Amino acid sequence: MTLPFLEKLLQVLAQGGFSATYKYAVLLALIDLCVEAGHPPTSVSTSQVARRVVELYWPQVRPFTDWPAARSQTDGELLRQNRGSLGKIAALIWEYRQNHPDQFSPPRVDSSDGEYADLLREVEWKLVEMPLPRLQRVGGGEERFIYEIGWDEGVSSSRFRKYARGDGAAFDNRILFVDGAADALVALAAVIRPLVQQQWLVMVRAINGLPEARLEAFLFGADRVRLGALHKPLRLLQSGTCFYCGSALGGASEVDHFVPWARSPDDGLDNLVLAHDRCNRHKLHHLADVNFGRRWRDRSLELSGRLDEIAAESKWSRDRVRTFGVAATAYRRVPDGVRLWMGERGLRRLGLTDLPEVHRFGRELADAISGPPRRAPHGSPP
Ligand SMILES: [Zn+2]
Repeated sequence: MTLPFLEKLLQVLAQGGFSATYKYAVLLALIDLCVEAGHPPTSVSTSQVARRVVELYWPQVRPFTDWPAARSQTDGELLRQNRGSLGKIAALIWEYRQNHPDQFSPPRVDSSDGEYADLLREVEWKLVEMPLPRLQRVGGGEERFIYEIGWDEGVSSSRFRKYARGDGAAFDNRILFVDGAADALVALAAVIRPLVQQQWLVMVRAINGLPEARLEAFLFGADRVRLGALHKPLRLLQSGTCFYCGSALGGASEVDHFVPWARSPDDGLDNLVLAHDRCNRHKLHHLADVNFGRRWRDRSLELSGRLDEIAAESKWSRDRVRTFGVAATAYRRVPDGVRLWMGERGLRRLGLTDLPEVHRFGRELADAISGPPRRAPHGSPP
């Protein structure tokens, strides 16, 4: 259970559909609530999640004092949690903190502070409306691998208001964990928590233009400037067409890591293809479908001589064994429920019946490294 769960969670973290940090807060809140329960719970309520989310944002809405000198201070001194704004939830908490400057930590659960209760309700509504129905969506589809809820994005605020005024029948506030998910969150908490925090950090740095974002890219990002040197030779190799959609490369194009950089940073020439900017952005951090995979493998094998020439001329590293090894591992271990990128048709969700084909491709790649499996030596039992 835990490994496929982790794979799906990585997909949720990798997808770019979120413009605010809410998904990180919700994930951390769910983990914490599961861990704190002592034994993995079957459900938690939206009000529990709201309380925990407020606690997570609480220290983050203090004035940030470490702005780079060159940055204009006109945006205010708070860190934005949303592209283009402070973020609704952060703004609500900030407002509360402005009115209660002596309140250094969030009020206790049994607090009778009516203003705080209002804050919790507003945050709860924001979570109900936005991240909770969207969190488990990858690409166009949804895989409810963590929880089930009884509403979708279309949930009406009047229903929620009725519930908030005490009419429990108006809105079912339970977040029901799917079988084994709460267990997995607890078992993997020590791995997932720092991972989610790291992603949150990276997003806040990027949104706020902090120099650490550039440091991160410098230390661990793909070197886009260097990759640019491969544009011309790859364009020739691909006869001027996009590796994925096959149409002519006019306008902006990008050198793409076939096995996504986020999954395994492999800059070897075999892992690099030239694609339209739009195809590259559409593929994002997803693994490409098997038909792309076979074409990609065949390019490495059939055009090996030309790849060697490019590597020599561009002084670029080429290590097919390593690159195929990375890809073999990725495709052999894909669990069901994960989505592969199919080009213009978007993402395909893998069901159990699709897995053998994908895993077979992974084994083919492994075989291409080591040669086909050897037959048993003569005379040994079958
Ligand atoms: Zn294309």
